[in-house]
Amino acid sequence: MSRAGTSDPADPPPAVPVAVAGPGVGAPARRATVTVDVGGVLVGSGHPVVVQSMTNTDTADADATAIQVARLAHAGSELVRVTVNNDGAAAAVPEMLRKLRDLGVGVPVIGDFHYNGHQLLVEYPEMARALAKYRINPGNVGAKRHDENFVTIVRVAIENAKPVRIGVNWGSLDQALLTDLMNANAASAEPRDSRDVMIEAMIESAMRSAELAEETGLGHDRIIISAKVSNVRDLVDVYRILAQRSDYPLHLGLTEAGLGMKGIVASTAGLAILLEEGIGDTIRVSLTPAPGGEREEEVRVAQQVLQSMGLRSFLPQVSACPGCGRTTSTFFQEMAERIQGHLRERMPAWQARYPGVEEMTVAVMGCVVNGPGESKHADIGISLPGTFEEPVAPVFIDGKLDRTLRGDGLIDEFIGILEGYVDRRYGAEQAATAGDRSAAP
Ligand code: SF4
Repeated sequence: MSRAGTSDPADPPPAVPVAVAGPGVGAPARRATVTVDVGGVLVGSGHPVVVQSMTNTDTADADATAIQVARLAHAGSELVRVTVNNDGAAAAVPEMLRKLRDLGVGVPVIGDFHYNGHQLLVEYPEMARALAKYRINPGNVGAKRHDENFVTIVRVAIENAKPVRIGVNWGSLDQALLTDLMNANAASAEPRDSRDVMIEAMIESAMRSAELAEETGLGHDRIIISAKVSNVRDLVDVYRILAQRSDYPLHLGLTEAGLGMKGIVASTAGLAILLEEGIGDTIRVSLTPAPGGEREEEVRVAQQVLQSMGLRSFLPQVSACPGCGRTTSTFFQEMAERIQGHLRERMPAWQARYPGVEEMTVAVMGCVVNGPGESKHADIGISLPGTFEEPVAPVFIDGKLDRTLRGDGLIDEFIGILEGYVDRRYGAEQAATAGDRSAAP
């Protein structure tokens, strides 16, 4: 694949460095898979679990879509999917990608196809070249010419050297296959529960489609599989079986996870169980944004799931106590929130200058009960005075008392100390690494 310097929208400029620290100590071992290259992002067990997301703009609006893809990428989405549902969307994809590359955003963009993907991919070859991967839903390629349409999409993928995701969804399951399995089950001596048949139909749909894709000539290492459901228990059962059946990388996610807290909790519960078992090579958290809410929220949740499980590090982590009757003012919550916001804001600049800073831990604690102890465990921490405690706030750095703050302006003072710490510690590490490199024979 050629690189930047050409006008082909399929060629991303060099990627902006993203903090991609690998698994931490005690992180679960991954299920072994082949590696699939999605526009330069490697997906599979030999590589960090990839965070991805999807736009909700009209793809025919190239400006709006390019802006949203850029925002999702800026938030940390390493792959972004866009819907390609009609002629207007298909025609706009190359232009949208050019705008995106002009913004300096190199994130690979995936096309999501249903019903007419076989037509659009053939009729819009520039779009087919520009996308980094095609998502095919085997339940939505047409009932009458199912295999023919599926094979058409796969042939376009082969011609353009693109991978595909075979993305089964229980809301659009291949009805012919499901009916066959239901009938066979009804006729058997010991019929199984309909839930089990549905799970079997999803897995069969994915595996038969992958087989057909390979028979058509698509490389084994150009296939990613997903089988999404909206219930956590079903998700876990489906993916456990899928994981045993093949070594394709698996795209994890709960479909229609829902709004706000419900979506976050359900997604986290499902993803965490599977990731802990080493299952899952790329994840998406499908949150329904609140009206006016940010689409990037799903990216932040996905990152936090991976970081909480020790699988990757994206952002310094702030430990803050929940507060209790010993903290009667809101000052300590405000401080924790401002520090969290400061870290998020500074990360894009820090990650280039201070390698490893994403693994830093910061403690903001509400009183003397756990404050000093927790702050000593963090790289840098502050223990605020609780109600009726002496109005002083000891700051701990690398486990030792560094100084004591008091009076107004505490938050700004602590942020200043934090900035200095990052520069001293992670700047020094970078200088030492550069020194080692220049000293090498
Ligand atoms: S550290 Fe202090 S303020 Fe925070 S929860 Fe514990 S006792 Fe309450």
